[in-house]
Amino acid sequence: MEQLSQLLRDNESWLMVRILSYAKLHNFTKYTSTLLDAWRLSISGLTNALCTSLHKHGGEEPQFNPDEDYTSDPVTEFGRLEAKRHRERGITISMFLGLLKYYRDTYIDLVEEKCPEEIKAASMRFVLRSFDRFEIALCAEWVATESQEQISTLEEANRRLSNEKNKYLTVFESTPRPALLIDKDGLLDTLNLAASNLLGLEKISGETYYSGGHSTANGNMKRLRKPFTDYLPWLKEEANLFSEGDLLFHRTEVKYESSGANQYFDVFFARMLDVSDKYSGILIILDDITQRKKLEIELSHLATTDALTGANNRHRFLERAEEEFVRSSRYNRPLSLLMLDIDYFKNINDTFGHAAGDDVLRALSTACRRMFRQIDIFGRVGGEEFAVILPETPIDVATSVAERLRQTLALLRVEGYNGSISFTVSIGVVEREDGQNISDVMYYADKALYKAKNAGRNRVVAGDVTAEKNTTF
Ligand code: GH3
Ligand code: MG
Ligand code: MG
Repeated sequence: MEQLSQLLRDNESWLMVRILSYAKLHNFTKYTSTLLDAWRLSISGLTNALCTSLHKHGGEEPQFNPDEDYTSDPVTEFGRLEAKRHRERGITISMFLGLLKYYRDTYIDLVEEKCPEEIKAASMRFVLRSFDRFEIALCAEWVATESQEQISTLEEANRRLSNEKNKYLTVFESTPRPALLIDKDGLLDTLNLAASNLLGLEKISGETYYSGGHSTANGNMKRLRKPFTDYLPWLKEEANLFSEGDLLFHRTEVKYESSGANQYFDVFFARMLDVSDKYSGILIILDDITQRKKLEIELSHLATTDALTGANNRHRFLERAEEEFVRSSRYNRPLSLLMLDIDYFKNINDTFGHAAGDDVLRALSTACRRMFRQIDIFGRVGGEEFAVILPETPIDVATSVAERLRQTLALLRVEGYNGSISFTVSIGVVEREDGQNISDVMYYADKALYKAKNAGRNRVVAGDVTAEKNTTF
């Protein structure tokens, strides 16, 4: 009988697959799990019981006798415990016995299909007898329990379940994150306190909420059972994507506008499956990250913007310029750079004060931003030095833009405490040549700017990059 023991032990997975297919075929999966692994416990329990029994009976077929104590047999012991476990879960004896017949068929099938011929008949008798004893023990256990005792057992199980339920409700209710359960038809099923606050539904009283049966008995919840997108329209797109996909979990950030201000949520979706592994809805947990997001945006603004003028700071200017250079080189498009420096700025500071100098820098930035296109990149690259990238612009166009800018700035007046301030600028202009990066081009623009300064200031000089290159190298 060692052979039979071995056969049973070697085929645990085979037995699991077979019992699950019987359970599915005969609709037991309405009440049980469809997950293969959920059947491992009962199959390994049965196999253990059968092997222990084989050992105990020395391979002899077990018999019945009128004074039998079924509690002392390993096979029947397993049956008694299973009976207890299933009764507590509210399973009826007829349902359980029915399923047990399919367990028996599963083991018979194994013997039939895989047992060596010489022990097949004896093994078959052994399995059948063992299952008979299993059933007797189970029925004996079931009827031995008085109905009052059965009620007590159920009451006890019910108390345990209520305590469990309250424990999870406490966790669910006290979490500061809004959490909502959406049923498979997209209707709002359950929500916690934080979620009802978020939706402005504080009116759900604890009494009605905890009375259970939200969907039907509870008037409040019944009233609330509308498509959840009525409450959270801004989540519609993400929720649809998730429910139509096959991910079990998904986490994303969603932005939406509420009374003119942007709100940000970190949204966690989880697919809810019932015991049969069927889709029964989704759980949504929200985390309001608006404050953090605003800080992030503010920090990134601070890190990239010059505080005085609002222009891109040097770091950000170079970063964006680099991107534009890559684009211009990939598509072989013209790109020009302007370097601008205020003439005799020190004098302005000395004459009108540093604060007035600041006003000049601000006025210059505003005027520049007005003049340039959306695609141009304007940055403050030094104290009173500015640079502009003009994408899609050859040198002749860039030079006339620079000339127009020079004239506009020369006409600008900034009010200082002791008079109106005017100023001029010198501008160097260059166009990017093949193979040049931003620092090459800035170098040549600086050279052109230097020439403009030397030639008397208040002028635009277009740099000849190639000539410069030739003379430099
Ligand atoms: P040039 O025509 O040769 O450019 O003469 P300049 O006086 O403009 O040149 P220089 O580079 O010698 O002087 C620049 C001055 O800009 C020196 C510095 O004090 C001033 N400056 C730099 N940053 C600021 C700022 O943020 N605010 C003010 N008000 N002044 C600044
Ligand atoms: Mg200057
Ligand atoms: Mg300077």
